[in-house]
Amino acid sequence: MSITDSGHADLLAEAVSWRHQLHRHPELAFGERRTSELVASQLERFGLKVHRGLAGTGVVATLSRGSSRRSIGIRADMDALPIREESGAAHASTVPGVMHACGHDGHTAIALAAARICASLPDLDGTVHFIFQPAEENEGGGRRMVEEGLFASFPCDSVYALHNWPGLPAGTCVARDGPMMAAFGTFEIGIRGRGAHGAMPHAGTDAIVTAAQIVSALQSIVSRNIDPLQSAVVSVTQIRGGDTWNVLPDECIIRGTTRWYDERVGDCIEERMTRLANSVAAGFGCTASLRYERRYPATINDPASARLVREVAGEIRLSVIDSPPTMGAEDFAYMLRAVPGCYLWLGAGRLGENPGLHSARYDFNDDVLPAGVDLWVSLVRRCLARA
Ligand SMILES: [Zn+2]
Ligand SMILES: [Zn+2]
Repeated sequence: MSITDSGHADLLAEAVSWRHQLHRHPELAFGERRTSELVASQLERFGLKVHRGLAGTGVVATLSRGSSRRSIGIRADMDALPIREESGAAHASTVPGVMHACGHDGHTAIALAAARICASLPDLDGTVHFIFQPAEENEGGGRRMVEEGLFASFPCDSVYALHNWPGLPAGTCVARDGPMMAAFGTFEIGIRGRGAHGAMPHAGTDAIVTAAQIVSALQSIVSRNIDPLQSAVVSVTQIRGGDTWNVLPDECIIRGTTRWYDERVGDCIEERMTRLANSVAAGFGCTASLRYERRYPATINDPASARLVREVAGEIRLSVIDSPPTMGAEDFAYMLRAVPGCYLWLGAGRLGENPGLHSARYDFNDDVLPAGVDLWVSLVRRCLARA
């Protein structure tokens, strides 16, 4: 049973049209009202039992057949990014400064089409919950869904999510045992000195020179404090201070992001950053205040669920390849902490140039839509096959 079978001839065209509609009307984290409405109304049309409002704009649609208590979850993300689109696509964003630059429009269309096919299958025995989550990008919509009782209200034996991956060729799939995506944190270090005339620096305490020393000192965390066989990143991505060329400012602000897999590495980064910021600032006569936030945990696949995905992918003639985990992050991690499951990458590379995820020139590759749909449908059939 494939989306390209004659029985589903119009569904593929409809799925592409949903994808383009979503792409034209992107919505940011927790503001996915129009998206959520499209998703919920289609799912109702397919005859699923639809629950709205989890984590605000989240939608969960349930399909139950037979008498088995087996259940699985399929998750899609719905939010877009604050990026001005430059893809040149006919279906480009109509919302200034907002675009689907991560392909969540594609993930949503794939899950919708899979739900429609599953609703027509006569031989399922068990329950599948299609989970449409808000705010995957930075804001932790997945976390909120779990905290608001996602798996208490919609119990799942296992849960699955896919992400299109433009860096891998279309027709491939990666579902690793264990680590896929890293844990991440954000930090802001405020350095307080005393401003002075740029020609008389000795009359003040220089927050900018202090900030420069702190940025250098932070480089020693990964190189000197973390076991070389572990993975970690400390990136300073912003420095703000001063308004003109002849005045030393009172204050300078450093911001950035951190990544890790092992929680002990996460603890080490936070502890070393705190000590370095405070002690380097003190050495230069300034004070530092650190705001450090741990955001998403690492995305870790359950090996049995990952093996199942690899088997199913092989059956639908996807080429299952191995690819190392990345230091990117993903809030499906919160669902995987609550329920075993698998997060996979669906190769989405085209011939020629492939702008990466979060690029202003990125556009989801519609050619991989059928593979995504077939993967979900085959997984549901495998998990909920009538005994
Ligand atoms: Zn993204
Ligand atoms: Zn994404």
